[in-house]
Amino acid sequence: MDTTQDRSKPWLPADCRAVVAAAEAEFLSDDLDRIDGALHDLVDAHERHMDVESLGLNAGTNVMNPRAAAMLGRSLGNRPSLGYPGDKYEMGMEFAERIEVVADALVRRLFSAPFAEIRVGSGALANLYVFMATCRPGDRILAFPPELGGHVTHHQAGAAGLYGVEVHPVPYDAARMAIDLDRLRAAARRLKPKVITVAGSLCLFPYDVRSVRGIADEVGAYVLYDAAHMAGLIAGGRFQAPLAEGAHLMTCSTYKAFGGPPSGLVLTTEADLAERIDKIAYPGLTANFDLGKTAALAISVLDLLAHGPAYAAMCIANAEALGHAMAAEGLPVHAVAGRGPTESHHLAVHAAPFGGGQTASKHLAKANLLLCGIGLPLPAVAGDLNGIRIGTQEITRWGMTPADMPQIARLIARVLKGNEAPEQVRADVTDFRRGFQTMRYVRTVTTAA
Ligand SMILES: *Cc1c(COP(=O)(O)O)cnc(C)c1O
Repeated sequence: MDTTQDRSKPWLPADCRAVVAAAEAEFLSDDLDRIDGALHDLVDAHERHMDVESLGLNAGTNVMNPRAAAMLGRSLGNRPSLGYPGDKYEMGMEFAERIEVVADALVRRLFSAPFAEIRVGSGALANLYVFMATCRPGDRILAFPPELGGHVTHHQAGAAGLYGVEVHPVPYDAARMAIDLDRLRAAARRLKPKVITVAGSLCLFPYDVRSVRGIADEVGAYVLYDAAHMAGLIAGGRFQAPLAEGAHLMTCSTYKAFGGPPSGLVLTTEADLAERIDKIAYPGLTANFDLGKTAALAISVLDLLAHGPAYAAMCIANAEALGHAMAAEGLPVHAVAGRGPTESHHLAVHAAPFGGGQTASKHLAKANLLLCGIGLPLPAVAGDLNGIRIGTQEITRWGMTPADMPQIARLIARVLKGNEAPEQVRADVTDFRRGFQTMRYVRTVTTAA
């Protein structure tokens, strides 16, 4: 069988083309049952690898309550749901539309927000919705640069640039990992941005949202807080409360620290923005929005309403303990003088001594220690990121506590500093991981039939 048409992306790097070609050669044939079986085997192998045998330290992921995950497999998501509850275009939606109403109300309750948009496919799309609601192509925004955790969706290659807004960096003070408010005010006066975005993919310390709002008010800009990573802590009443502190808008992913399905949210305090975003969601950019995810989201919000404060507190306690334990192992943990390594569930480690963030992460992955690189305001590492990012949300969900953190620091140090072969450390990682098989901070009630 000629499968050459399947190898169709000549712009991919050679290494990736080799992986694609090998996987096609291994799995594609004319035997459809064989392909079906192989797909099931790959899913099983993936889940065993990531959920059972590896230590998930990647900040941008989580495990979901199985009761929420089950909603993704129901027929609900196959039923399109266009229009407002009470006036759906499709017939037969009188039960489904109330799931949408409940999810929306629970999200607003969780974040004490007057308006929520839940029909958003991802955090990236949530940011696009916000840029479309606040800017015209050609307008300017100020956003965190990559070395302060700024996300591609805020930048030229992502949602902001694809929509046509001009992106300028939010000035920062590297030593404090904080926004430089004086220089932000000067930049805002000079550039007259429509939006100032706050936060990104690495948030070690809360940001001064109140002062940013003051600056935004001087120039007529909106403040967008991107809580893709911090939404889980914010839901638990920790880290900061961006909307109460002055952000007009907050976007987030719902599968990172939030611990829900892979989706997005936009929250706002402003009725006019909420109405614009509502119309961008429908009839703008969504037809069917996957009510299965909406139901999963609602179950995940119930978990956060019940356990969010304890979960958020334990995520932070674990990060603090892991930061200190890694420093005690001699690892170069990024820290701010007088404040320590973190006040969130995130940690960063300097990656230059280990060949760069992705290089080090690929090495650690061979020991089943899963995390990834991140940009830090430090000298660049050629061809790689200069930081390693860790998040404690998943290990917290699996019941680990500060008492367990020295063991994790040791495992990381054995690979990065002790120069032990990662394959040799892997068995110890898996042994350690096997001790934590119960998911915490999720409601386990079975509702009456
Ligand atoms: C992950 C992330 C996003 C994108 O979220 P998705 O739900 O993966 O699309 C947006 N902003 C920041 C800061 C992120 O870290």
